[in-house]
Amino acid sequence: MDKIKLATVWLAGCSGCHMSFLDLDEWLIELVQWAEIVYSPVGSDRKDYPENVDVCLVEGGVANEDNKTMILNVRQRSKILISFGDCAVTANVPGMRNMLEGSEPVLRRGYSELADNTAQVPDEPGIVPRLLDQVLPVHQVVAVDIFMPGCPPSADRIKATIEPLFRGDRPQMVGRDMIKFG
Ligand code: SF4
Repeated sequence: MDKIKLATVWLAGCSGCHMSFLDLDEWLIELVQWAEIVYSPVGSDRKDYPENVDVCLVEGGVANEDNKTMILNVRQRSKILISFGDCAVTANVPGMRNMLEGSEPVLRRGYSELADNTAQVPDEPGIVPRLLDQVLPVHQVVAVDIFMPGCPPSADRIKATIEPLFRGDRPQMVGRDMIKFG
């Protein structure tokens, strides 16, 4: 049987969801019997997102132009896209900057008003990605197939979400154990 092609992607998040993925511990050994990790900040050195990914877990909101380009690419190349954690599902912590209404006040606050010295807003096209005016949850940019809330989702919830997909089934995203935020 061909292995599932599994990817994980890190957008605007703290990497806590990926740390929870690593909390799968010894089940990761079982996972690699079902799945080949073809792209991931914690499981692959590959720099470009591959074609024909079966399942992709996306951590984080969409906060800048690089995130937006990435998620459009991921959507195009992935069969099942999972919003992985509260930042992906609601924008959560990175979305707190949305209260400042636009990228310019955010950059001014962070790099000028709060600077002790050498205040300077970073502006290096091609190197520093431009911030979007609002941090968006993933489903406001591309279609999402499965929502997995949690900050971070527990390892048990991650396993209960992806294990059925390896058998060709859909996870039951119902009940406190599967859809509680936070
Ligand atoms: S959902 Fe929580 S743990 Fe995951 S990236 Fe966001 S802040 Fe970090």
